[in-house]
Amino acid sequence: MSATENFSGGCQCGAVRYRIDGGLRYPHVCHCRMCQKASGNYFMPLAASSRAQFELTRGEVSWFQSSDQVRRGFCGRCGTPLFYDLPDADFINITLGSLDEPERVIPDAQSNLVDKMHWFADLDGLPVEPEPASDENRVPVNNRQHPDHDTAEWPPKESEI
Ligand SMILES: [Zn+2]
Ligand SMILES: [Zn+2]
Repeated sequence: MSATENFSGGCQCGAVRYRIDGGLRYPHVCHCRMCQKASGNYFMPLAASSRAQFELTRGEVSWFQSSDQVRRGFCGRCGTPLFYDLPDADFINITLGSLDEPERVIPDAQSNLVDKMHWFADLDGLPVEPEPASDENRVPVNNRQHPDHDTAEWPPKESEI
């Protein structure tokens, strides 16, 4: 991955936004029990940005000190997990699902397999729910989720909706 790539992302409600003016290193999924709890998921997808290339562009991060070494950053308004941070390190790990374009980063490793769900590999073979006939179950334009790009103002004024 080129070091010249830029990324943006943020939480679901848009109160916290960030930019990375550089590449992301070590994109991976962590199956550890702490990442499961912190994400409310079976694993957490993470990659590291140089701290010098990382910038918070909106809002304040809420932190939970999940161990002596590590704190977890999230949006205090909507709860989206955003960061896995060792404050003394020169990098910060960001959750790959919070990127505006998550498909751009492909994990190339996984860690802490001892806590991995033993049926994890079967997930992709699960029966598929029928697609909705309309677009009503897709992300509609009038939902409250921040769009996948930076905005000058959020939420928009009523007149702009
Ligand atoms: Zn939020
Ligand atoms: Zn973990």
